[in-house]
Amino acid sequence: MMFQLIEHVVFTLVLAVLINVYYRKGPRYFLKIIVLAVKELPGVQTLIDQVLKKEVTSFVKSSTLAQDVVASKPRIVLPKSAFSSDDLHVQMGNLLKRECNTQEDGNVFAYTYTMKDEHFKLQEEAFDMFEEKTGHSAEQDKIVKEFFHAFMHENALNPMIFPALRLMETEVVSMTAAMLNGDREVVGFLTSGGTESNLMAVKTFRDYGRAQRPHIRRPNIVTPISVHPTIDKAAHYFDMDVIHTPMDKDFRADVKAIEQAINSDTVLIVASAPQFCHSVMDPIEEIGALALRKGIPLHVDACFGGFMLPWVEKLGYKIPKFDFRVPGVTSMSADVHKYGYSVKGASVILYRNADIRKHQIYAYAEWPGGLYGSPSMAGTRPGGNIASAWAAMKALGESGYMGKAREIMDITDKMKARITSIKGLCLMGEPCMSAFAIGSSDSNLNIQAVADVMETKGWKMERCQTPDCLHCSILPHHTGKADKFLDDLEAATKHCMDNKALAKKGTAGVYGMMANIPDKGIVTDFLVEFFSEVYTCK
Ligand SMILES: *Cc1c(COP(=O)(O)O)cnc(C)c1O
Repeated sequence: MMFQLIEHVVFTLVLAVLINVYYRKGPRYFLKIIVLAVKELPGVQTLIDQVLKKEVTSFVKSSTLAQDVVASKPRIVLPKSAFSSDDLHVQMGNLLKRECNTQEDGNVFAYTYTMKDEHFKLQEEAFDMFEEKTGHSAEQDKIVKEFFHAFMHENALNPMIFPALRLMETEVVSMTAAMLNGDREVVGFLTSGGTESNLMAVKTFRDYGRAQRPHIRRPNIVTPISVHPTIDKAAHYFDMDVIHTPMDKDFRADVKAIEQAINSDTVLIVASAPQFCHSVMDPIEEIGALALRKGIPLHVDACFGGFMLPWVEKLGYKIPKFDFRVPGVTSMSADVHKYGYSVKGASVILYRNADIRKHQIYAYAEWPGGLYGSPSMAGTRPGGNIASAWAAMKALGESGYMGKAREIMDITDKMKARITSIKGLCLMGEPCMSAFAIGSSDSNLNIQAVADVMETKGWKMERCQTPDCLHCSILPHHTGKADKFLDDLEAATKHCMDNKALAKKGTAGVYGMMANIPDKGIVTDFLVEFFSEVYTCK
């Protein structure tokens, strides 16, 4: 009797809460609560997991990875004895053939920024540029080879052991700081990539915030929804919250919304120059002024734009101030392995001054192995990446970067002009520098369906969501490829306008379905299952 009464009371309370949620937050949110509740029932999660696993397996089997994941061959183990040189070369050749040749095909719109597929080709070419001026010599060739072979095996963990690596790292950081208009106070570190740079900025300002304001309970970051997911990843790793603010109608950060979202636990504002999705620049000057007024640090994620915007600005394009010229900016990240054209594994994180930077450094004095210190996430830091970043920057110089920027901007301008003239297509917002996103300007045209058709023609499309559009970074390998792309795009657009049913099929259909799932947790589970499945040797 007593239990029945308690049950009844609990049931009524839960119902009251749910009705309340329904009226306050709308049916979508309500549905989400129901889905979450159903997931808690015994056995339901196991069922969902099984369905997910099946879905992922069939998805992978229908993908480009199909040929690698079907057969259940014996487990791959370390060879009992060394491969003969012949065997090794055959296997290497096969792997090369199996690989996506982005340089040759010019069909991807992200990921690879280098100009040739061979490993050190860029640096060798870059050094050729040096040598053109100074005369070519076998001795110089030998130095280039030895340079990369030596540093490839070195470790920047201990700056006292490898003095030349330390020198190169500090020079790369200094050159980047100057390029982004930092004064002599601006300092930084080299990291393995944009992710590590952003992780470090978040960690630094979490610790800086706590040091300045000990009352902070759970530190948070305020940033527009368009910010790169590395910021969410950082908050997840470092046990912080992210408060996402909306974009305005032109996909720029809404400064008012940022101001309203800031609370007493906010340790950092993050804005992008530009954000990756639409290549639209956040209003850094206005956000900088807000940051100063509120006394909160501002990190500018220029991973994408850091090595392109300075040259685009010098070429005469109108670029709003985005770097250390803006007073409120306290840190910036810029990827050398993107438009800096070094091999993968190099990015720079910069801080307004050395006092702020100190919060990035980790030190531990009680290890029996000795005194330990490390500036960033990685312990061992590969020397080859540092040497490559240094060589790329020194060898290209301002004139080299300007030349490349001119070439890439010419392709970009031409593509943008043609795309806006195609019936049904538009550009999302006002893209700056060398990238843009293609959207649909006609309710009869589903842009994801256009991507599906483009993929049948060999192009690899970068799909963005909410709202749907297609991101394009223009890269060195697109030289000579733009006309073919634009012709294919025009034909694909017309085809989709004439065949509206395509929007319900293929990947377009999946995106359409996903937009209607109220609980994105299921999509997240799918992604986790996908990575778990794909990184298994079959
Ligand atoms: C690429 C990118 C990152 C992440 O950099 P990785 O080198 O992929 O780790 C972060 N922010 C922006 C804006 C980017 O374009």
